[in-house]
Order: sequence, then C-alpha cells, then structure tokens
Amino acid sequence: MTHDDCTPEPVLKARQLTRSFGDGEARTVAVNHAALDLYAGQVVLLMGPSGSGKSTLLAVLSGLLRPDAGQVLALGQDLWALSDKERERFRLQHCGFVFQGYNLFAALTARQQLEMVVRWGEGASARDARRRTDEVLELLGLAKKADLYPADLSGGEKQRVAIGRALIKNPKFCFADEPTSALDWHTGEHVIEQLRNAARDRGATVLVVAHDARIIPYADRVFYMEDGCLRETEDEAQVRELVLRQHTNVPHAGDLAELH
Ligand code: ADP
Repeated sequence: MTHDDCTPEPVLKARQLTRSFGDGEARTVAVNHAALDLYAGQVVLLMGPSGSGKSTLLAVLSGLLRPDAGQVLALGQDLWALSDKERERFRLQHCGFVFQGYNLFAALTARQQLEMVVRWGEGASARDARRRTDEVLELLGLAKKADLYPADLSGGEKQRVAIGRALIKNPKFCFADEPTSALDWHTGEHVIEQLRNAARDRGATVLVVAHDARIIPYADRVFYMEDGCLRETEDEAQVRELVLRQHTNVPHAGDLAELH
C-alpha cells in the first residue's frame, strides 16, 4: 500500500522491534526487527504458524511486554519511553483486549462486566454506565443476556461480552489474540464481524491474531509471521496457501520470500 500526502498519519507505528526469550543456546528470538504502520479504522490480521511470534508481537505493540530493542509510536507517543504508570494509563484509556479464553469475571453478569469498565475505569455515573452498557449489549445482540453470568452463556456469547467490554470505552486500538479459536466457524464469523464493525463505525484499529484463513476476507490488511519475521502480503491466495501448508505440515522454507 502506498500513502500520498493526503493519507493520515499512522496511529500505530513500529520500527525495528525485537524481543527474545532466554539466553545462550536456549535463546529464542520471538520477534525479529519487526516494522509496521497501522491506520485508524482498519482490521489487520496477523497470521502465521504456532510459535512464530504473533502473541509476543501483539504484547509488545499493546504495551504489555517490553521489547529488547525498537520503538512503538502509538498516537504519536513513544510507548516504551513512558513510565509504567503512564503506559498503564495509555492502555486503560486507548486499548481494548480480547483473548481466546474470554477472561470474564465469573461472579459478574454480562451487564456488570461492561459497567465496571466505564464506572471504575472512567469514573462515569451509574446511570451513564448503564446507558452505555445497554447500548453496546444491544449492538452485540446480547440485550436478553444482560443479567446472565458467564457460566450461563455460550462460548460465542461470552466472546461477544468480552468484545463489548473491550469496545465500550471506544478505544483507539483493539487487540484480539485468537478471538475465534475456541468457537465454531459460524460463531467466530459473527465475532469477527463485530470487530470489523467496531473498526468501521468507531474508527478503531483492530489487530487480530488468527490462524483460520476464512477470516482473511474480513481484514483490510494481512500480515504473516514466520520465525519472528513479519511481512505484509496483499496476495490472499498466497496467504491461504501458507496457512494450508502450515496445517498439513508440508515444508514451507522460503515461502515468505515469494510473497512479494
Ligand atoms: P505465537 O503467538 O505465534 O504462537 P509466541 O509469540 O507465543 O508465538 O511465541 C514465539 C516464540 O517465543 C516461541 O518459540 C515461544 O516458545 C517463545 N516464547 C513466548 N513466550 C515465552 C516466554 N514467556 N518464555 C519463553 N519463551 C517464550
């Protein structure tokens, strides 16, 4: 993708990002000199085999895991130059998270999971929190489930509550790590649609780690990771091929070089 003078600035910009684990022989370079520019309103897919560094990259980009080297500029701020407190505030204010395991509180109803974010995260009044919560639950088709606890919700419903919790504060960024992996395809497709709507309607940048190639049509851009190296590809057919091979264990050395 090329950007001329009229194109807005990236909302998230990463350069030379590197993160490794362990020392000596046991050292793994999980993210190796990764760079990307993300723009508002985009759904960006991050694909690649298990262990290729996707979750690590997501954690570094979202301010959860400090890189060994490199820079993340989020809304113009150098995320890793902020103090821990400032970075936490940035995350609270601007980032929503959705994980494979939902991470809901067992003792709270669907409505309470969302209300908590606006009441305690933003200091909103009870009435305001209730109004915004009901709006989001309605949007996600969960109005009738508002008073149920996670144990009484299906996997897809739990994930929609988690999405609601991530989106209720209108974050600039939504980071979703394998949000559909625990769901059947039909439910997962619905979840991805909700994330895409969030990007479109609310101008959020949604970064989704996923391994199911059926999600590709829902994404504006697709990145592929292998052995810590990140590449963007605009060729859907080749990504599909890579993902297929990774599932069938066909050797794929050198595939990335063919992507461009
Ligand atoms: P993916 O999300 O693509 O499955 P990860 O980012 O989870 O990949 O992992 C990338 C590599 O980094 C893997 O080799 C993994 O074993 C390693 N790794 C990730 N987290 C840790 C950790 N906390 N300690 C040690 N190694 C880790």
